[in-house]
Amino acid sequence: ESQLNPNYNFENFLEGDSNRLARSAGLAVSAKPGGTSFNPLLVFGGVGLGKTHLSHAIGVQIKDKYPDKTVLYISAEKFTQQYIESVKKNNRNDFIHFYQIIDVLIIDDVQFFSGKSGTQDVFFHIFNHLHQNGKQVILTSDKAPVDMQDIEQRLLSRFKWGLSAELQSPDFETRVSILKNKLYRDGVEMPDEIIEYVAKNIKTNVRELEGAIISLIAQSSFNKKEITIDLAKQVVEKFVKNTKREVSIDYIQKVVSDYFQMDVDTLQSKTRKRHIVQARQLAMFFAKKYTKASLASIGSQIGKRDHATVLHACKTVDNLSSTDKQFRKYVEDLNKKLSV
Ligand code: ADP
Ligand code: MG
Repeated sequence: ESQLNPNYNFENFLEGDSNRLARSAGLAVSAKPGGTSFNPLLVFGGVGLGKTHLSHAIGVQIKDKYPDKTVLYISAEKFTQQYIESVKKNNRNDFIHFYQIIDVLIIDDVQFFSGKSGTQDVFFHIFNHLHQNGKQVILTSDKAPVDMQDIEQRLLSRFKWGLSAELQSPDFETRVSILKNKLYRDGVEMPDEIIEYVAKNIKTNVRELEGAIISLIAQSSFNKKEITIDLAKQVVEKFVKNTKREVSIDYIQKVVSDYFQMDVDTLQSKTRKRHIVQARQLAMFFAKKYTKASLASIGSQIGKRDHATVLHACKTVDNLSSTDKQFRKYVEDLNKKLSV
């Protein structure tokens, strides 16, 4: 079983400036799997920009052209689970062997391998075997290899052997064509004016764009109302509001601990390890900045500290960001993540 979704194909993966390189590299790889210098092909980009869709499309196209090749799509998370299972069951070698006889291996969201050294190690061996035997590897990630954290150097260098192609946010025209294509496929008619209104106001990612149009269609049929620009305005307004992430203290802790690749539990723990203390202080600082919670309440939610600790954290963050360049980068990065 290839695990490929035939609905994610090249035909409905619309081309635009934002994805041209990745899309054409994908096509090149599909024409000659293992036979181009794009090996591995690494597609990276933010959430909802088409990484999963494109990686399936490549697999689907290869299967179409070379029915005898074994193609496997798997998420890095599932791969990791399978690996852990194999270790428990004492059949790690079977696991490795299974992957080594695949012709085209597609692993989605490899950032999930961060910090998981056992999985990285086993993947390293599988990768080498496949690559040496001219098999094709396709990877996706939410970050470029240079920005990946807690991935072993030897693996990162393999990632860079082939081609890394970025998926960016689509421009207005591409957003319009994606919407038109979707509506056409679903057999729904909608005035251009309305499609353009939605495309103009929802820019972040394709998933949200599609979500808005689906919700617009649902609203109209549910209320038996015609799809008018007024209805579109209401839906888009609601949609933009609902998808705006609520900046809660929980959310801040999640963002900060993700950024430093640790669990929220670690961030809250009693440890005095410097990088953990700093992560915690940053969470407190941003909680103060982005929520209306009192110092005492921030403290109690971030690892049961008192208000003085929070105050101290805020001062430390202020000081460090003016004296320590690396630290200032943390603050800027996190600020960007939290201020969307
Ligand atoms: P990611 O894996 O990067 O988070 P997905 O591949 O899940 O993103 O894409 C999110 C949604 O947007 C999917 O429904 C996908 O079909 C659609 N999509 C993304 N890019 C395009 C595109 N260029 N043309 C058509 N649909 C797209
Ligand atoms: Mg995805």
